[in-house]
Amino acid sequence: MKGSLKEYKKKRRFDETSEPEGAVKPRATARPRFVVQMHRATRLHWDFRLEAGGVLKSWAVPKGPSLNPADKRLAMHVEDHPLDYYDFEGVIPAGNYGAGQVIVWDYGWYSLVEGTDPAREIARGKIKFILHGHKLRGEFTLVKMHGRNSEENAWLLFKDKDEYADPHWDVADHSRSAKTDRSLDQVGDNPRSRKWISDRAADPAHARAARTREAKRSSDGVPQFTNLDKVLWPDDGYTKGDLIKYYLSVASWLLPYLQERPLTLQRFPNGIEGSSFFEKQAPAGAPPWVRTVSVPSEYGKRSKIDYIVCDDERTLAWLANLGAITLHAWISRIGSMDSPDLCLLDMDPQAGCTLSALAKVTLRLRDELEAIGLSPAVKTSGGKGLHVMWRLAAGYSYDEVRRFTELTAHRLSSVMGDAITLERVVKKRKRGSVYIDWAQIGKGKTIVMPFVVRPRPKAPVSWPLAWSDVEKMARSRAPDIFAEAAHWNIESVPALLKKRGDPWKKALEKRQRLEQALKKAQKLWT
Ligand code: MN
Repeated sequence: MKGSLKEYKKKRRFDETSEPEGAVKPRATARPRFVVQMHRATRLHWDFRLEAGGVLKSWAVPKGPSLNPADKRLAMHVEDHPLDYYDFEGVIPAGNYGAGQVIVWDYGWYSLVEGTDPAREIARGKIKFILHGHKLRGEFTLVKMHGRNSEENAWLLFKDKDEYADPHWDVADHSRSAKTDRSLDQVGDNPRSRKWISDRAADPAHARAARTREAKRSSDGVPQFTNLDKVLWPDDGYTKGDLIKYYLSVASWLLPYLQERPLTLQRFPNGIEGSSFFEKQAPAGAPPWVRTVSVPSEYGKRSKIDYIVCDDERTLAWLANLGAITLHAWISRIGSMDSPDLCLLDMDPQAGCTLSALAKVTLRLRDELEAIGLSPAVKTSGGKGLHVMWRLAAGYSYDEVRRFTELTAHRLSSVMGDAITLERVVKKRKRGSVYIDWAQIGKGKTIVMPFVVRPRPKAPVSWPLAWSDVEKMARSRAPDIFAEAAHWNIESVPALLKKRGDPWKKALEKRQRLEQALKKAQKLWT
């Protein structure tokens, strides 16, 4: 069941528009792709495209896709698009068909729920599939409408019920490119975006660079390791080879936490006792296969920072080879970078604070949060403290989430007195207290994800705990957390994960909303 590009070509003038002409030959593929383009033409709409029959089968969805199964979206079947439309993002010039701005709103691959040939399913008028995208995940149905009043090309697109369904999901919260994090305005009328488009399309240097990258890809697809015997932990003897081996052995548990998040590297080229530095901009020597995301920068000399994004094992291994012992990740993801998907309160014990005191304060924080309907999780930071975290529903701004963590920290301070400090100036913090850092919520601020290594003696890693572990800590006589936290280090954690899996697998599944919690907090906490 082959598609046809006849109508697509007839509608367009390729000497004017930068849309692809459809020169790419269809290929056999185990994972057919999908793309959803947000398109501001005469009317705003979303173009939903599935790779099938050698083309991108396409539907225009006026209200956009939804993760809410209650939303049945009208989807108008339109002409087949060429496969290379998959990457198209830019401006279709005035006077041309579909004139306006286009961003790659979401992309990825899909699998069929029923049948084996997607083109045949579509020809029959119904296709059920599972999307593996950045915004859209899980099972969906596209079905042709029947009945007297429906137009010939009218279909419905809707989310089927599964773990990815979200009744609170709102397309208005998701207005950026999943590829470049740009808004429609940013691909549109500003000179910088025009330059970006011309860089890609016309600049001979860019084309040359792209060819070089392509040529290198086959020979340079595996990271080259250097100085594997270099000792990074002098007291323990752990080497850079040990660090690389560790990160590779936990990759399948760590990568889901890092995926789609810009990273800041904390590099220790001469080990944990040598000098170290934080690095946001991807190093100039990064191999061509290392993924980066460009984020406009308001501070410093650069107008933008190209952050590394680590989605795969070879990038993880390459980072470890740089001596990047600790990877610090954003709490938002590409595609919704102004909206954190994780909430964090950092429990930071001050000098003289025992493990028991730290644990008691953290348990009280849990109790206060549970009393207002939230379900927090807890982990060791891998350093001296504990992290209390939970997953957020989509759509909150950094300011909203930070106001919530501030409110929570003040509540804890009012019920726990001197056991807590909120003092920002380190010297003024009371000895033996726990500093609650509620302000780690902001665009560009980072946290340490589970299984990330810390530059401390014994090479500890951040480890997800059960609350019963913290209850045990509350009965401990240890002067601090270090001996306890070092049980989870680069030597022990790979075997633990293989045996038990990620202890947080369940804990971070639920997307928690703050509205009800805030209402309850206003009653209980004031
Ligand atoms: Mn369109």
